[in-house]
Amino acid sequence: METKALESKREGRPLRGRVAVVTGSTSGIGLGIARALAAAGADIVVNGLGGRAEIDRLCERLADENGVKAVYDDADLMDKVEARKLIVRSTWSFGKVDILVNNAGVQHVSQIESFPEEKWDSILALNLSAAFHTTKACFAAMKAAGFGRVINIASAHGLVASPFKSAYVAAKHGLVGLTKAAALEGAEFGVTCNAICPGYVWTPLVERQIDDTAAARGLTREGVIRDVLLAAQPTKRFAEVEENGALAAFLASDAGASITGAALPIDGGWTAH
Ligand code: NAD
Repeated sequence: METKALESKREGRPLRGRVAVVTGSTSGIGLGIARALAAAGADIVVNGLGGRAEIDRLCERLADENGVKAVYDDADLMDKVEARKLIVRSTWSFGKVDILVNNAGVQHVSQIESFPEEKWDSILALNLSAAFHTTKACFAAMKAAGFGRVINIASAHGLVASPFKSAYVAAKHGLVGLTKAAALEGAEFGVTCNAICPGYVWTPLVERQIDDTAAARGLTREGVIRDVLLAAQPTKRFAEVEENGALAAFLASDAGASITGAALPIDGGWTAH
């Protein structure tokens, strides 16, 4: 039962009464999106890796600061059974899933001839297949409810390629394709599906690839940031997690009803080249 204080905090907010599952929301872009959806009034299922005590504190803060409910689900999305169960458990907890943000992702930087096969398999499993399994698990209910928002966090690498990221580029291009297919299938039922395609955003995922990129290209860390990462972005700055959160919150709102099947760059002009 909702308290009066909780109810009044949510009043007038665009996602009031909505339930959002955000995969990989213990860190980086996913956490930024979870914060933006909670600020817009949605209850949140947080998912991702990390220490339990810290994640519990994160959920408490999300709930307290925004007057919403926030629960944690530890599903390992490399496993398709867990991906499905994330949706089943979220539906048990809240009675429905209105908004699904497929954000969890990993990266590996290496040339093709030495690219570890297990890295290929795990990147495809998490960055592409997990989004299919979670979408499949909630699509029928969204269609039956006449409302659904699936937001896939692809990448500028879902639109263009860079060397040494074969698995990531393949998975993100695949995710943009999945987005279009789901958009067409959901269109008549009030279910939209869009991809957000960030350029470089300063998160742990980017931090982790700097050393590998430096090794692959024979550059220093500073050289990688200036000549590889920000060289691609005409704005010459990293995009912000808050910018991704704001777009996700808009797409999830009623105002986003006619935007579907789109791959929307937040890349400082990178893919305009
Ligand atoms: P991050 O490393 O900060 O966050 C990744 C999240 O995924 C974390 O919460 C992590 O715990 C979770 N995760 C990892 N393995 C998981 C698993 N097996 N099961 C469930 N959750 C798992 O990275 P980020 O930069 O915030 O990336 C988020 C998404 O944004 C990814 O899909 C990434 O490809 C995409 N992206 C990032 C950038 C960027 O520059 N940071 C650019 C374009 C796209």
